[in-house]
Amino acid sequence: MRTKILLDEAEMPKQWYNIQADLPTPLDPPLHPATGKPVGPDDLRPIFPMELIRQEMSQDRFIPIPEEVREILQIWRPSPLYRAHRLEKHLKTPAKIYYKWEGVSPPGSHKPNTAVPQAYFNMKEGVERIATETGAGQWGSSLAFATALFGMECRVYMVKVSYEQKPGRRSLMRAYNAECFPSPSTMTSAGRAVLEKDPDSPGSLGIAISEAVEEAASRSDTNYSLGSVLNHVCLHQSIIGQEARAQLAMDDTYPDVVIGCAGGGSNFAGTAFPFAGDKLTGKHPDIDIIAVEPTACPTLTRGLYAYDFGDIAGLTPLMRMFTLGHDFVPPAIHAGGLRYHGMAPLVSKLVKEGTIRAEAYHQNEVFEAARTFAMTEGLLVAPETAHAVKATIDEALKCRKTGEEKTILFNNSGHGYFDLSSYDAFHDGKLIDYAYPADLIEESLRNLPKVG
Ligand SMILES: *Cc1c(COP(=O)(O)O)cnc(C)c1O
Repeated sequence: MRTKILLDEAEMPKQWYNIQADLPTPLDPPLHPATGKPVGPDDLRPIFPMELIRQEMSQDRFIPIPEEVREILQIWRPSPLYRAHRLEKHLKTPAKIYYKWEGVSPPGSHKPNTAVPQAYFNMKEGVERIATETGAGQWGSSLAFATALFGMECRVYMVKVSYEQKPGRRSLMRAYNAECFPSPSTMTSAGRAVLEKDPDSPGSLGIAISEAVEEAASRSDTNYSLGSVLNHVCLHQSIIGQEARAQLAMDDTYPDVVIGCAGGGSNFAGTAFPFAGDKLTGKHPDIDIIAVEPTACPTLTRGLYAYDFGDIAGLTPLMRMFTLGHDFVPPAIHAGGLRYHGMAPLVSKLVKEGTIRAEAYHQNEVFEAARTFAMTEGLLVAPETAHAVKATIDEALKCRKTGEEKTILFNNSGHGYFDLSSYDAFHDGKLIDYAYPADLIEESLRNLPKVG
């Protein structure tokens, strides 16, 4: 009965897995925001390096990980896979629960898995500075970490409500030498336009993305970087699922259920896609793959599958994805993260086609699950991750009823030690369960761009 399953450094994957190679039909192309025509590499060059554009569009099943990137990832990778014996016992379930622990990276989440290669490919092409957005600060601190290692500059637009509520992450970004500003800011025309309409705007990821993209597009020394959603981000995260599959094999098992929380979809994709590939190619047709989201931002469970912008100002290409509308602003009372209006096109397509499914939970039950996990396994997970914990507990309890000894794998995407104010709010009984109202979703969806 082992508890932690470790791979040697040399066993860290040498290539990323690209699920585009195994899709029954290709992704719908992203469209140019002005012309409505499919975007080509030249449209993306002002803000992304060529290599990332190539990866974004690649149909190759495997893409090699450069040696310099592997050396940095080895600071914390391969990450451990744990068997949650104590949680199983507490739940009195015959299920075997495993979790992949991504909180061992220096900034504390899965996000550096893509921040490091993104900074690297930018550095290789002579870019000296990267602008980005961040919600709770995990992406901003991960990119700040990566750019610091390559001697680059980093500017972060942080969603204002988080900027005010999460000073710890701001402090970490400062330690990594990044500049961080609350968004909407007065430094970009996108930010000023929002402030004109609503001076008290709490901000949103859609607004912050507009600010960062605008800055990258208008400065020749600066590129833009996105921490989730895009194909190349899902690609870089595939290292999680590949390692997990090898680690489960060391325990002579393969998962019946794979679970991840989904904001923009990257940690979920990274964990699930190697297994979804096994499902699509008929190796494991029955595996159940679940993306978990909050009822306060129910993109996959209540959004529309449509072309939409990735940001509020309409600067990004249109992507076909599940969306709540690009001007969706999540309620400030929601403490659980995962607040993006859209979802990775790859995750969206697989949900649409039934390869994977989605569930939504209220925030109090999610924090309660995190507490159960802390009291049995010891780790205090990020509020985002807690959604995956909740779904895992529910699946394990179903097994208690049916007696099935399923193997459940979930991605433990990061720690919650910068999120203690949200935990305090939960423990003080101050969190309000909130399902985003149907009429507000409809209103936001009415502003979807017209395509075709
Ligand atoms: C950012 C983040 C998420 C959500 O982002 P995805 O792109 O959906 O993975 C989940 N968990 C943690 C710990 C995060 O930092």
